Amino acid sequence: MTGYQPPLPGYRPPTTFVEEFPERSTYDAVVIGAGPNGLIAAAYLARAGLRVCVCERRYEIGGGLATEEILFPSHYSNPHAVYHMMVDYMPPLADLGLDRHGLTFVSPNAQTAAVFEDGSSLLLCRMIEDTKDSIATLSERDSRTFGQVMRTWRRLVEELVAPATYLPRSPPST
Ligand SMILES: Cc1cc2nc3c(=O)[nH]c(=O)nc-3n(C[C@H](O)[C@H](O)[C@H](O)COP(=O)(O)OP(=O)(O)OC[C@H]3O[C@@H](n4cnc5c(N)ncnc54)[C@H](O)[C@@H]3O)c2cc1C
Repeated sequence: MTGYQPPLPGYRPPTTFVEEFPERSTYDAVVIGAGPNGLIAAAYLARAGLRVCVCERRYEIGGGLATEEILFPSHYSNPHAVYHMMVDYMPPLADLGLDRHGLTFVSPNAQTAAVFEDGSSLLLCRMIEDTKDSIATLSERDSRTFGQVMRTWRRLVEELVAPATYLPRSPPST
């Protein structure tokens, strides 16, 4: 779906302020904006038993993480979110059981490529050896250095960065 969507048949714009913002509501919470944070907050509130309404001004939910057919037909892009590194450490994924609702991350080996003006290119892959091979076409020395850095970096991520990113919940204040 792209661009402006005409109103659905039968849609009638509100004619008074009160109609648009009723004084009474059957909802316990209203979340403005259906981006990832709004949706996650709404899901936790709903799971806690509250009646939640999520209002989104755009034609689809997802905010910065929406996937849209904006370039060519049948070609889907993320206008904002281009990397989802460490997303599997996010507590809401497991808390809300998103995999049971169809969330799957597909991680192809080839991740990013750059083509330079002289016709050479560089390919960054999930497999360190493949990235090293690609760097080696430009510089053997850089390829070796990359391998050394990645060995340390992977340990740093697994033992320090990832566990520190999502700190345990604070105790309730008294
Ligand atoms: C250029 C760019 C690149 C990024 N790249 C990445 C990335 O690669 N990986 C990554 O993880 N994160 C990335 N981010 C960050 C990520 O997009 C944000 O962290 C995330 O979208 C924030 O979520 P949110 O729910 O707070 O806000 P948003 O995703 O911005 O969602 C807010 C929602 O609220 C709606 N809204 C606003 N005002 C109203 C209103 N008055 N009434 C109704 N609806 C309203 C908006 O339409 C929108 O859908 C990027 C951000 C930017 C700007």
